[in-house]
Amino acid sequence: MPRRIPLRKCVGCNERKAKFDLIRIVYNSAEDTISIDKTGKANGRGAYICPDPACLNKAVKSKNIERSLKKSVSEKIYEDLKKEIDEMIG
Ligand SMILES: [Zn+2]
Repeated sequence: MPRRIPLRKCVGCNERKAKFDLIRIVYNSAEDTISIDKTGKANGRGAYICPDPACLNKAVKSKNIERSLKKSVSEKIYEDLKKEIDEMIG
C-alpha cells in the first residue's frame, strides 16, 4: 500500500508539495502572533511555502501569506522567512 503523504499548497508557486518539504508559517490567535513554525506542530492557522527565494518573492507580491492567514504580515516575518530559506538552501 502506498503511504499517503500530506500535501500542502505553496503560497508562492501554488503547487501542492509534501508538507515536510515546505516551511510553515503559523498564526497563533491566542497570542495574536505570526511565526515560522519549525516543528510543524504549532497550533493555529498555517500557510506553507517552498524553501525557494522565488516562491518567497511571489508570495510577497501576491500577498498570499496574508490571504492564507487572514492577517497582515510584518516585514520582520518576511525577513525571518528569507533567513530560514537561505539556511535551508545553504
Ligand atoms: Zn513554491
